[in-house]
Amino acid sequence: MPARTILVINCGSSSIKFALVNPAQAQFALSGLAERLGSPDAQVHWQQGASKQHLALPAADHRAALAQLLPLVQSAAGGQLHGIGHRVVHGGEHFTAACRLDPASLSVIRATAPLAPLHNPANLLGIEAAFKLFPDLPQVAVFDTAFHQTLPEHAYRYALPEALYREHGVRRYGFHGTSHRFVSQRAAELSGLAVAASSWLVAHLGNGCSTCAVVNGQSRDTSMGLTPLEGVVMGTRSGDVDPNLHSHLARTLGWSLEQIETLLNNNSGLLGLSGLSNDMRSLEQAREQGHPGATLAIEVFCYRLAKSLAAMSCALPQLDGLIFTGGIGENSPLIRSKTVAHLRLFNLALDQQANARTIAGLAGPIQAAGHPRVLVVPTNEERQIALDSLALLN
Ligand code: AMP
Repeated sequence: MPARTILVINCGSSSIKFALVNPAQAQFALSGLAERLGSPDAQVHWQQGASKQHLALPAADHRAALAQLLPLVQSAAGGQLHGIGHRVVHGGEHFTAACRLDPASLSVIRATAPLAPLHNPANLLGIEAAFKLFPDLPQVAVFDTAFHQTLPEHAYRYALPEALYREHGVRRYGFHGTSHRFVSQRAAELSGLAVAASSWLVAHLGNGCSTCAVVNGQSRDTSMGLTPLEGVVMGTRSGDVDPNLHSHLARTLGWSLEQIETLLNNNSGLLGLSGLSNDMRSLEQAREQGHPGATLAIEVFCYRLAKSLAAMSCALPQLDGLIFTGGIGENSPLIRSKTVAHLRLFNLALDQQANARTIAGLAGPIQAAGHPRVLVVPTNEERQIALDSLALLN
């Protein structure tokens, strides 16, 4: 294997998603997930070629889990590991692109933690563990927010007093930038258009969901804001609610800030609406059997998603296509069909056969003949992080 392999690490508070990526190869040499870290049930699963394995790591923390993976990574990389690329959720206004990790950039990421208290500290755990275990390897941070630093001020400012922005960084940042960038570039390639002269609406629909307007390779607006809670309905996050909901719940029910945050981030969205699950596959099955909560959750999800895409169109000079990506966007003909049905004023319509067959990792157009382009494009954030890391290290 040539010396262009990057270990990509995405750390959550109790998990590490990892992949060994050589951009010259379509498949990852090694990929896996360490989960429930810090608990007695901590374990790691990985896949190398066709072989799938797992190992219990009772009470392992991030560093112990990475230490277990070290020999595996080194043997899979054949001694040719070029560097480590870390997904970092929030780069604030400081990071407009990937950066090499050193004491100066690390201290800026630490200083950004108040903007992403759930995410950046977890990302830092992975970075610190990786520095201890791989002291000789260069490390790179790739930020979810960086792609959206091209938003014009009228798209990123809230209608709040200026001091909150100037002194406290209260503005819209946007997230999922690595995915929106990757799929909009792939969509241009698949359509024979130049990235620098193309305009896209993107719906990234995973457990977290967001929309984005991408013009000439730059993000011009996106649905997530100061935090990943703003915007469309997600697995367990509410997306947009009336901001007065907070004071209403505090006043009428006596709820604390923590209770309201838990409600909106963990108990709402598809899970809250359906009363059943945050998982779209389960909801589609329950809807088939007539479950009213699942049916309603799917209707609200698609209607609000279509509203968000319509709003994003304000940032486009023309529409070269609508892109669906993420676990739901890549695999759910039902959600794509229901969402597009709300966008008839854009003249969007699907070829139902193409829609039905473009699942499970397939990419391609699914619009009906004579209608604007609608594409399914599988996202690959790990690959984009590896490409960004290599571009910086070379
Ligand atoms: P992600 O976070 O990108 O892995 O996406 C997770 C979401 O994708 C979950 O809601 C899954 O239920 C959903 N998903 C995955 N496969 C399918 C499928 N075949 N049909 C509908 N939703 C799916």
